[in-house]
Amino acid sequence: MARFFPLFPEGRECVNCGATSTPLWRRDGNGHYLCNACGLYYKMNGQNRPLIKPKRRLVSGIRKPG
Ligand SMILES: [Zn+2]
Repeated sequence: MARFFPLFPEGRECVNCGATSTPLWRRDGNGHYLCNACGLYYKMNGQNRPLIKPKRRLVSGIRKPG
């Protein structure tokens, strides 16, 4: 399902990490909203901040027999 970003000033969300709360909103070269951390990283490195994906996802059903 394609979903467009609403033009509401509130309800912003960092397009990189999905953060909705940040001391300062920034924008990338395309005008997308970035949180402070991602915006700074983007500005310094010229690329999106790599995200650390949570590894809390337990996979059930995969067990070694025996
Ligand atoms: Zn972010």
